[in-house]
Amino acid sequence: MAEGLIHCYVHGDELGGDMALHHRMLNVLLRRIWTGQFSAIPCSHLDMINDVEPSSHVCDQCVALGETWPELRMCMICGHVGCCEDSKYQHARRHFEATGHPLIMPYGIRGMNWIWCYEDRALLDPV
Ligand SMILES: [Zn+2]
Ligand SMILES: [Zn+2]
Ligand SMILES: [Zn+2]
Repeated sequence: MAEGLIHCYVHGDELGGDMALHHRMLNVLLRRIWTGQFSAIPCSHLDMINDVEPSSHVCDQCVALGETWPELRMCMICGHVGCCEDSKYQHARRHFEATGHPLIMPYGIRGMNWIWCYEDRALLDPV
């Protein structure tokens, strides 16, 4: 990977310049909102990340319940796709509680490119 470029999981390509800056600024803002601070809280779980394929393109558990969801998250340890914290059932969080897999990223949302650690309550830039 060339210096100055970040890998974008959302767009599936390498981004330089404005888009990389856009992601970094968005992540700083989200980090401030979700953790109350601007600097990154360290996470000790990054070595758990696997090269995973998404388990689904929907929240299967919500579909089974006849529910809808605002956004999807993907587990970076096993690829489980579940709905976000703003969803009625929070299936991504429930997956963490059931399995101990702490790291998620947005799934299928353009312009979102971050990692959240449930265990450390840390918002991380993409690795
Ligand atoms: Zn962590
Ligand atoms: Zn769900
Ligand atoms: Zn998982």
